Amino acid sequence: MFRNEIIGKGNLAPVEETRFFHGLKNLIVNYTSKLKRFFRNCFLGGHVGMKVFDAHCDALLKLWRNPELTFQSSHHLQVSYQGLKAAGAKVQCFAVFVPDDIVGDARFQAALDMIDLFYEKVVKPYPDIKSVRTREEIEGLEEDEIGVMLTLEGCGPVANDLTRLQTLLRLGVRSVGLTWNYANDLADGVLEERQAGLSNLGVEAVKMLDAEKVWTDVSHLTESGFWEVMELTNRVIASHSNVKVLCDHPRNLNDRQIQALIKKDAMMGITFVPYFLSERSPVHIKEIIKHIDYVASFGGVRNIGFGSDFDGISETVKGLDSFFGYDKLINELQKHFSEDEVRGFCFENFVERITF
Ligand SMILES: [Zn+2]
Repeated sequence: MFRNEIIGKGNLAPVEETRFFHGLKNLIVNYTSKLKRFFRNCFLGGHVGMKVFDAHCDALLKLWRNPELTFQSSHHLQVSYQGLKAAGAKVQCFAVFVPDDIVGDARFQAALDMIDLFYEKVVKPYPDIKSVRTREEIEGLEEDEIGVMLTLEGCGPVANDLTRLQTLLRLGVRSVGLTWNYANDLADGVLEERQAGLSNLGVEAVKMLDAEKVWTDVSHLTESGFWEVMELTNRVIASHSNVKVLCDHPRNLNDRQIQALIKKDAMMGITFVPYFLSERSPVHIKEIIKHIDYVASFGGVRNIGFGSDFDGISETVKGLDSFFGYDKLINELQKHFSEDEVRGFCFENFVERITF
């Protein structure tokens, strides 16, 4: 996502909440979402039990930029505790993304601070949110529990020191994008003019990620970088990228790339960034169906998931302006695909391909 849209949103100041009020709100949210699901199941033939795995959001960046925000509030976050509970989240990935206006060693410190926020603000206050690092931990979640997982979007904070990358893995990061849109010590991002691939250190990094059994994320990488990563590891995903033929944006993947991911049985997270879905505006949920159909037409029906990019976008798909919108998306998916396929897109495909 083009991050400059977020910068400057730092003046949100929610009212301080007391512990009691916080607990009471959680209770109400829990019961309202349960009731909502119950009635939908009874009268609307809805999608009770449709679990969601979302491979990418930037809520940590917002929490980091606005220290007064809590994770509770759906007013300031597209991914919030309330939204996750209401819309059937089962696993949400949280990207550590250090923006380009942070330079030098402050980048690694910022990454550590975001990881601290993840544990302090997303995990600790909510007994039904568990940090997960393995497929086993995801499969072991209780019915009412939501798993949250750390990912890294861009290795800028690592600079030229892979010990830092190792440290981030030890803290729980399970998927690593080598770059954001521009170059760093490891590789070139998709908007870097020279369009190079990986540096020697980048190659080392991918080998390290492979040895640690975690995912290398090719979203944001140049095409040459993409092919180098594909040579180096089978533990690869594109966490939030769409189909280039349907929407000609440098962040989207061309047919050869999509086919190569499918050949590796790797996952592609369809993303809700409106200008990665369509060159027209406004963008409707139906556009998402087109991208899914296209990837499925290559035999990739089990390789499709979602990486919303919520909290990294200010423009949104109509009806899908926060995690609450997953309800509408699932309803639309059910008109076009079998129950089994929809369960795959929403949750199972990603989970079945976890290598850690
Ligand atoms: Zn991104």
